[in-house]
Amino acid sequence: MSVHEITLIPGDGTGPELIEATRRVLEQTGVGLRWDEQPAGADVYAEEGTPFPDRTLESIRRTKVGIKGPTTTPVGSGFRSVNVLLRQALDLYACIRPCKAYEGVRTRYPETDIVIVRENTEDLYAGIEFEQGTAENRRLRDFLADVGQPVREDAGISIKPISRFGSERIVQAAFQYAKDNDRGKVTAVHKANIMKFTDGLFLEVSREVARRHPEVEFEDRIVDNLCNQLVSRPEEYDVIVLPNLYGDIVSDLGAGMIGGLGLAPGGNIGTRAAMFEATHGSAPKYKGQNRVNPTALMLSGVLMLRHLGERDPADALERAIAAVIRKGEHVTYDLKPTREDPTAVGTSQFADAVIEEMMSQ
Ligand code: NAD
Repeated sequence: MSVHEITLIPGDGTGPELIEATRRVLEQTGVGLRWDEQPAGADVYAEEGTPFPDRTLESIRRTKVGIKGPTTTPVGSGFRSVNVLLRQALDLYACIRPCKAYEGVRTRYPETDIVIVRENTEDLYAGIEFEQGTAENRRLRDFLADVGQPVREDAGISIKPISRFGSERIVQAAFQYAKDNDRGKVTAVHKANIMKFTDGLFLEVSREVARRHPEVEFEDRIVDNLCNQLVSRPEEYDVIVLPNLYGDIVSDLGAGMIGGLGLAPGGNIGTRAAMFEATHGSAPKYKGQNRVNPTALMLSGVLMLRHLGERDPADALERAIAAVIRKGEHVTYDLKPTREDPTAVGTSQFADAVIEEMMSQ
């Protein structure tokens, strides 16, 4: 049996509990997995002064596949987001987030079965910012005034780069995902009516890539209209490809539509490595309470197994998770009718129930 070596990053907040539950169910699939556990996030920052030590990056470069618990990012100050650092260091350009409403979950949108493909490296997330009052900000404003685009002197300025290269590879990844997973349609999302040279380019390139894949239906939507339509007619959507910022926002919308953040998995895939993690954050208020839902991270593990070519064990794990949710007995508080439901189980008991389902399949 071949053994896959995987970088395992517990993260911080509720991350270590979620990773432990996920590691246990992945091991139960029978796939040969060897873990290289490495730190990232607020806890290692407190000890070593960096949220993302070199040894963690070296491990992922070597194993090429990782699974990660969430990590806290301080708002406004402190260190930069580990996730943004990771995506940039490893060029993890495609973020794939399936949003499927499993039977048994309370949602107004039970028909939802979409896959969000978010560009991960460009757009306003590139981190190109000019703080108001600085010399750089002044020089940029002088330039903008010269080209007839004056900006108020008390303005902070962010730059939104969207390239032909970045758009081409993300749209291509969306079509490839559609083909590999028997999905019939790709929708490209933009605001090209307002941002002609950035979103306009994304749309133009999307149309070019679509012409190379005539067997997959293609359409485009303006992002505000997409949000409206997603919550009115979710069944009309399939694979949705978006630039970085819209992808971030629509991912959380998708998570809400399928029953909450506790259920939304993700994978960040690049040319040199792939990193799998839930859409949600570190939920620090629940840290150490064995309370939060491990489904999103477990389903990220399912995506990881598929990425490794282990499709049958991946399907078996997904079926087991779906069965636990459908039965609704051994599930966490967020899947119960009320948050205070005394029959809710903890993170690790949810993992026990998934393991039991797998053993009885
Ligand atoms: P969050 O996703 O951590 O939590 C928001 C709320 O969603 C929680 O209070 C909880 O009610 C619910 N929730 C989240 N995960 C859940 C789960 N598994 N089960 C049940 N309920 C769950 O968002 P936040 O509070 O805005 O962010 C906390 C920290 O996480 C921030 O520092 C943020 O920067 C970081 N973050 C990290 C990642 C990542 O590591 N990939 C992603 C998003 C946010």
